[in-house]
Amino acid sequence: MSAYLLKTKTLLTFDPLAPVLNDQCLLIEDGIIRQIAPEADFALIECERIDATDKLVMPGLINAHHHFYSSLVTGLGKAEPARDFQGVLENLWWRLDKQLLSEDNYISALVSALTAIRKGTTTIIDHHASPFAVSGSLSQIAKAVSETGLRASLCYEVSDRDGEAVTADGIAENADWIRQCEASGDRMLRGLFGMHAAFTLSDKSLELISTFVQELGCGTHIHAAEADSDQQFNLKTFGRRVIPRLDSFTLINRNSILAHGIYLDDSELDTIASRGAALVTNPQSNLNNAVGIADVLKMSQKGILVGLGTDAMTVNMLEELRVGLWAQHLKQNNPNAAFMELASTLVFNNPRIAQKYWGQGLGMLAKGHAADLILVDYDPHTPLDENTWLGHVIFGISQASVDSTMVNGRFLMWNRELLLDLDETEIKAKSRELAEKLWSRF
Ligand SMILES: [Zn+2]
Repeated sequence: MSAYLLKTKTLLTFDPLAPVLNDQCLLIEDGIIRQIAPEADFALIECERIDATDKLVMPGLINAHHHFYSSLVTGLGKAEPARDFQGVLENLWWRLDKQLLSEDNYISALVSALTAIRKGTTTIIDHHASPFAVSGSLSQIAKAVSETGLRASLCYEVSDRDGEAVTADGIAENADWIRQCEASGDRMLRGLFGMHAAFTLSDKSLELISTFVQELGCGTHIHAAEADSDQQFNLKTFGRRVIPRLDSFTLINRNSILAHGIYLDDSELDTIASRGAALVTNPQSNLNNAVGIADVLKMSQKGILVGLGTDAMTVNMLEELRVGLWAQHLKQNNPNAAFMELASTLVFNNPRIAQKYWGQGLGMLAKGHAADLILVDYDPHTPLDENTWLGHVIFGISQASVDSTMVNGRFLMWNRELLLDLDETEIKAKSRELAEKLWSRF
């Protein structure tokens, strides 16, 4: 890949030490930012020059908890009304995921990834379920992700709810995928060991999963205490709360992602902090399911690395961030609460989470980091500087359009046109066709 120079006027770096740089050029080579300096410093370098001075340039965004497979649900109105979270799972998600076929897994990942490019999300940490199309499901998703050029970490959510054979398939799918990722040396794809939630996994299954996790030396990705019913079930059935139970099987480690965590007590938060695991909050999903609002302020004060995910409600991370902040104000009953804690989930913490898996600088524009960035149509109408940039991200840039998206040094979208060897119109038509079939089986 040849080197080129991206000329910028306003550059948001997400680097807390130098968050806003003006009139700088990025020298990009082989997917990496080699240097950031004024144009004069590159006078002797002969390479292609790309002018982005009429846009705001910032890092590509990271989604730390997503479900590609839910793409085909948009517009589905057939689910029975639910009284609570268990009802949402039983009436919608656990009916839907049983019907997913291999081709649904592929197309739903493809349409979601294309939307992500359009919204400026360049890395997605996904959590997949298709209990009657388990084997090879992660490879189908990986195929879609690779065709779009995004980065993704994949896992299959193991659960006992569909019988022992499906549990075994799920365990094998995770193990196969993680081994395949390591063997391939693909710089864009990663894997975690997925579990649905502690309330759908027996001790026997957790024991078996733990054996694989220790042997593979991998991280885990699980829904934890999304609703109080998770805690009550674990207490009643196993005599332990969610986190002590998972921890007793050594399933919470430095590379773990625990999604939601709304109903965790102080002791559980302390355990997560001591293990160095990430807790990923998904405010829009939690509001939609009426399960509550995570106490992000307290999690942060406990020293936990708190990330931001969308739980498939959107792939637009800035929309999720805004709602997360409003929800936290309500949670804390204070309109000034948790601004830095919430902003940090997306801007500083998601990059730290992703860096654990990719082993290189991600989500921050700095020398030696991955060239994952977006160009946004945003000409600030108030001063944008190192004191105001986070306010601009939440209140201003979130309302602007993403013009161009680069991942691994390659433009996947330029001037709102996808630069991919894919026919988006055809993909949408295929998606509508498969969604209609899926809905008829639902
Ligand atoms: Zn989820």
